[in-house]
Amino acid sequence: MMDFEHLTTEQWMAADAAHLAHTYGRFPVVAESGHGSILVDQDGKEYIDFGAGIGVNAFGYCDPEWESAVSAQLAKLQHTSNLYYTKPCIELADQLCKRTGMSKVFFSNSGGEANECAIKAARQYAAEHKGSDYSTIITLKESFHGRTLATLAATGQVHYHEKFLPLTGGFAYGDTSDLDEVRKLVEREKAAGILIECVQGEGGVNVMDRDFVRGIEAICQETGALLLVDEVQTGNGRTGKLYSYMHYGISPDIVSTAKGLGGGLPIGATLLSEKCADVFSPGDHGSTFGANPVVCAGAVSIISRLDEAFLDDVLRKSDLVRSTLTGKPGIKAVDGLGLMIGITTEKPAGEIVSECLKNGLLCLTAKTKVRLLPPLNISDEDLKQGLEILAKACEP
Ligand SMILES: *Cc1c(COP(=O)(O)O)cnc(C)c1O
Repeated sequence: MMDFEHLTTEQWMAADAAHLAHTYGRFPVVAESGHGSILVDQDGKEYIDFGAGIGVNAFGYCDPEWESAVSAQLAKLQHTSNLYYTKPCIELADQLCKRTGMSKVFFSNSGGEANECAIKAARQYAAEHKGSDYSTIITLKESFHGRTLATLAATGQVHYHEKFLPLTGGFAYGDTSDLDEVRKLVEREKAAGILIECVQGEGGVNVMDRDFVRGIEAICQETGALLLVDEVQTGNGRTGKLYSYMHYGISPDIVSTAKGLGGGLPIGATLLSEKCADVFSPGDHGSTFGANPVVCAGAVSIISRLDEAFLDDVLRKSDLVRSTLTGKPGIKAVDGLGLMIGITTEKPAGEIVSECLKNGLLCLTAKTKVRLLPPLNISDEDLKQGLEILAKACEP
């Protein structure tokens, strides 16, 4: 057995490599603790975190309000199974439905699972209303919907598929700039629904065109296909609205979300509109850990603070990021919505992220862009300091 008391960063890295499946390319940082927007590594080095655990830590590290909601629930009841009623998930579902106008929620533990539920709901609805041959889900090229076998197939990027053939059937991919092609696909494939991200995250922070998204909704209305919106990354205030579809004036039939919802604990949620609210009956779907009371208590503390004033402040900080970075040497473009930001740089994005890390700033990439997903409540001071480090790293 190893002595885990006094290892150096290199020794932790070697111990990780010895027994953890090699699914991640990690940076040489052993995270020890965090507070607010600051991550501290085991040597005491501090980093301003513009990644927030890939958009998960909506209120940063160890947010006191979230922590006390979680701790209070943890001290009372950690889990009971879904055979019994628990209070936090009921309160969370009530809040989510009141804020979105959706009717029902199914809770799971991750984004992939939230999408699995969305896909099952759409298929079941279509089977009941149009016939069981209406089962295909149309997704978009460059999309990302998860890593389970079904959501992998839903993901419109070949390089995620290649090693895991045969793909789960029942998916077809439309072009993000060609509504006519999507309409033809929906008809030809007998689609149960169309699943979109309003801002493609992993696909490169691609903000969908307003006309395109509204056109997708129109196709759904014309054909009877359900409109499914994947808000796993864009949801829960990330884009400056509670959910990104709210920027587009559309009314989805099914919304899936995860990442920021739990403030750092694993949760997925699938919201069903009135139209498909009663699609599931007991036995159709379930999750052992889903609707966990500790996780849901934390999520209530997150969602209840995402009010209009808070969301407006997310948009103000978004403007601050844009105005600070736009036109700086080595920066070609700043795209995104709210605090989901993609930066096109002259130097390779990976090089910039490594340079930032050395200088005490954590950033992400998305395809060829530098991607920022800072905590939604990041202070102006931390934001400006981080942007200074980033701008310097982008200089040719
Ligand atoms: C991260 C992500 C997922 C997958 O979420 P997991 O929690 O990793 O399963 C699905 N869709 C989108 C848009 C995402 O960004």
